Amino acid sequence: MNVNSLHFWSSAKQSRMMIDVSAIPAHNISLINQPDRLVIDIDNARLKGKLAQPPVSHPFFSGIRADQKQNSLRIVADLKRQIGYESFTLNPNKMYGHRLVVDLVDKGPLPDGETVLDKPSMRIAKTEAKAQAPQKVMKKIAEDSGSAKPVKETTPASRNGRNIVVAIDAGHGGEDPGAHGPEGTEEKRVVLAIAQKLAALINGQKGMRAVLVRKGDYYVDLRKRMEIARAANADLFISVHADAFKRSDVKGASVFTLSNRGASSEAARWLADSENTADLVGGVRLDDKEEVLASVLLDLSQTATLEASNNVASHVLKSFQNISELHFTSVQKAGFLVLKSPDIPSILVETAFISNPGEERKLKNSDHQAKIALAIFKGVRSYFKQYTPTDTRVAGL
Ligand SMILES: [Zn+2]
Repeated sequence: MNVNSLHFWSSAKQSRMMIDVSAIPAHNISLINQPDRLVIDIDNARLKGKLAQPPVSHPFFSGIRADQKQNSLRIVADLKRQIGYESFTLNPNKMYGHRLVVDLVDKGPLPDGETVLDKPSMRIAKTEAKAQAPQKVMKKIAEDSGSAKPVKETTPASRNGRNIVVAIDAGHGGEDPGAHGPEGTEEKRVVLAIAQKLAALINGQKGMRAVLVRKGDYYVDLRKRMEIARAANADLFISVHADAFKRSDVKGASVFTLSNRGASSEAARWLADSENTADLVGGVRLDDKEEVLASVLLDLSQTATLEASNNVASHVLKSFQNISELHFTSVQKAGFLVLKSPDIPSILVETAFISNPGEERKLKNSDHQAKIALAIFKGVRSYFKQYTPTDTRVAGL
């Protein structure tokens, strides 16, 4: 069996290692001290992909190495402090194959209200910790590009690094027109135009590259939208929408990030529902089990991603203040499915109310679409100026 990749997501108090494997392997996990490290021995395994390397500022890891010994693979995470861990395996779902998951937690007391992993039912194959002799020869694995994205990094970007990738998702499309304006303007058309203008701005910025999730008038399943962003190794996902409300005087822009605990306001909840039902329009019904699994994964993985999402959302919202009235003056949180990528900071921008006659006219106007695209772009650029992924080449943003 093959070990395809190792990724991790982290917050200050916890970290999740996710090892993608071709089949669930026989394995043993142990903690070794002096120096502290976590050792994962996997039988009959070959390392096929790269292992993600932690940034210097990572709260737990100083490095991740692998040692291939004939048929067994040993993965070693060098630790900065003493940790506790739990492990379990996950079966394939729509987005991922077999996975071996190791959750690490700081041994220190957790702050009030924080839980580590409160879903015991997920521990399908808890392994026994067993002390083992330290391995003498370890092979340093080449640095993987961009996996621990949510962890803030202050090291200056390398000049030869990769581009920052921004996935731009024009909402709706095809048989799902989205909201309608009083004059019949369809949300799917104006948001595609804005998304294309935003992509052009991003592609014009050195060190940044845009990926359009949909390039024309067709529907893309909401999960597929996240998959497209993931396949492009996106550093950020922006879903572009136009709002609607039964009262035509309601107007202004809003920026949303994902809320695990549900919508933060009645309006946000209403919106969350109407956006999520789009999955049915695309002909794919959400699978309940997968949703439960997804929510469990999100509990841990999204802590850091949410922080980044809220940050970029604040930048975009601030930038919007210059061109339009805001509907909500703070970042809103809602359960939009499309924002649920566990490792890609994601925001949803409701650019204006298409149900407001004045804003409908503006949304149709190419110059105003360009203004909206520029506002989003400026917000995104100022975010990346502050939080530059280490392996990118955007020092001059
Ligand atoms: Zn929409």
